Amino acid sequence: MEAHPSLSAQFIEPEPIRPVEAMGPYEPCWCRSGKKYKWCHYRREQEKPINIFEVEAGMLAELRAGYCSHPDPSDDPCSTTITRAHTVQRRGGLAAIAEDGHVLTVKPTMKSMIETQGNPAPRKIGVGNASVFPGFCSKHDTTIFKPIEGKTVTIDASTAFLFAYRAIAYERFAKEAQLRSVPIQAEMDRGKPFRTQVQIQFYLNSALAGIKIGLVDVNRWKAGYDERLMSGNRDGFRYFAIRFDSVLPVVACCAFHPEIDFHGNQLQRLARRGSEFEHITLTVTAFERETIAVFGWIGPDDGPAALLARSFSGLAADRKADALIKLLFLQSDNIFLRQSWWNGLTEQNQKLLQGLSKSGTAERTRKVSDLADDGTTFTTARAVEVISSEQMDPEAGSPKASA
Ligand SMILES: [Zn+2]
Ligand SMILES: [Zn+2]
Repeated sequence: MEAHPSLSAQFIEPEPIRPVEAMGPYEPCWCRSGKKYKWCHYRREQEKPINIFEVEAGMLAELRAGYCSHPDPSDDPCSTTITRAHTVQRRGGLAAIAEDGHVLTVKPTMKSMIETQGNPAPRKIGVGNASVFPGFCSKHDTTIFKPIEGKTVTIDASTAFLFAYRAIAYERFAKEAQLRSVPIQAEMDRGKPFRTQVQIQFYLNSALAGIKIGLVDVNRWKAGYDERLMSGNRDGFRYFAIRFDSVLPVVACCAFHPEIDFHGNQLQRLARRGSEFEHITLTVTAFERETIAVFGWIGPDDGPAALLARSFSGLAADRKADALIKLLFLQSDNIFLRQSWWNGLTEQNQKLLQGLSKSGTAERTRKVSDLADDGTTFTTARAVEVISSEQMDPEAGSPKASA
């Protein structure tokens, strides 16, 4: 087995912006907005400051701007309405962890960020609004995902593929909305002194570079899924699913770059030259009083995604649920929690999960040991079955025997 090429490749330094306090009026502005200086940062310190809640409203509007993610509607046209598609099914999945019609979300509001000085607790959200994104027309949302929307599901290549497809479509939608909201955030330095403008634009430029790289990856990943959705061929698609003996207090749907495994190993390093980065999708939802976690990916049988699944497979049956919860907080904000479970956690465990949740932001970088088992227990659920396209090697823990 060969290590992923990114592990030994050179880091790519993003091209920094070069702030200039005064420019010719028709020169392109130093902030790289693409506008002329005169219409951009000229006299910005004298402009009326923008209200932070206006910025938030603009970002939320981008998240409501919908389209259908179907790859080729020419033969099979979209219906006129874009639906608020649930990434985690409402009945079964969200309903299984809801209390009084509500779950908790880890996506903060601007108000909670300010009030808690950047440490907001998960907040309540109605199940009708939880996990939705306007990423499919109602017809395609219904027809594509029908096989995984029932009361029960049989996990095989075709149903696992649909969970993965929805996760990829969601991630692409979220990345595009992030990209469109950068110019809105770039207005936050209005009325501020030059050095604050520089700080804000520096931060946004490095965020923008990350979003653009992420978007290239997610578009490439989605193309691989689109091709298979249209042809019906599932070659090269791999999956690894775990059934638990009870309902976990968390549901989720996401796709991410597998960077580290559950045993403290680095799998790939982002922002390195000359590598195609691998993804993995993960859906955690409930069917008939049991949680199912489905990992899916397109890639080789010994790449970072396969290694992550294998490392997960190697954990003891009573450690898998705790490991899964850590992974979800580390990698995604499209996760939803049962309120009484969260409130019942010790303060120390809440802090641990909130810390993981900030990973990948400017505040916290991921550590190679983030997923290694430190014995922390969040739930008593046990893994009782593995359903996978892969043969898991015995050294990593035999899935059939130890799960
Ligand atoms: Zn500018
Ligand atoms: Zn459509």
